[in-house]
Amino acid sequence: MEDLLLAWFMEHGRDLPWRRTRDPYAILVSEVMSQQTQIERVLPRWQRWLERWPRVEELAVAPAADVIREWQGLGYNRRALSLHRAARHVAAHGWPDDLTELPGVGRYTADAVACFAFGRPVLPVDVNVRRISERTRHAFSPAAAQALMDLGKTVCLARIPRCGICPLAGACPSRWSRSEPSRRQGPFEGSFRQRRATALRAVVAGSQPEDAEAVASLAHDGLVRVDGERVALPD
Ligand code: SF4
Repeated sequence: MEDLLLAWFMEHGRDLPWRRTRDPYAILVSEVMSQQTQIERVLPRWQRWLERWPRVEELAVAPAADVIREWQGLGYNRRALSLHRAARHVAAHGWPDDLTELPGVGRYTADAVACFAFGRPVLPVDVNVRRISERTRHAFSPAAAQALMDLGKTVCLARIPRCGICPLAGACPSRWSRSEPSRRQGPFEGSFRQRRATALRAVVAGSQPEDAEAVASLAHDGLVRVDGERVALPD
């Protein structure tokens, strides 16, 4: 089954710039950005990020305020701070054997960096990889990681898999079966997440947000600091 998948990937795999590097820092940035943001939006921002901070040591010494500003528009701003802290950790101590020691790096991201940058034999399991593994009941090897991610994004879709064009259809016990709709993220519009984003945008733009609850939450996460009445980005 894996041979069929890899042959499909040779023809249909996405040409993503972070797949052309083994630099763990560049790959970590791509993984953190892609966690909750669509690839199309990540692409130009990843390029710009690496032009600004090409090496982990450069990000490590950047002011947190610059990192937060550069992240604007990608959403889930805490990721920016975690990435910054991870860069500081790596600049000071090198890359840890256990990458989950890095701030903001969970099991999937650690395995992705281990596999794609360090060539370790681990299969990073994201929602796509898990879904295809469950549907095909096949244990794929780490060599199939990127192919699985692309198949999951374009063919073996969560709700209505496109079995008619799937290279694995001949061997897949789940072909033509549909899934229950997966639980989706609540709407952004009107959410507390939106209020936080609006408040942080105001601080980035140099004005003072009025939403005290959102400011308190941002301050708790270290995304802003409050000096008396004044709300500012951290140093
Ligand atoms: S045959 Fe259908 S369910 Fe099976 S892996 Fe392909 S797209 Fe997914």
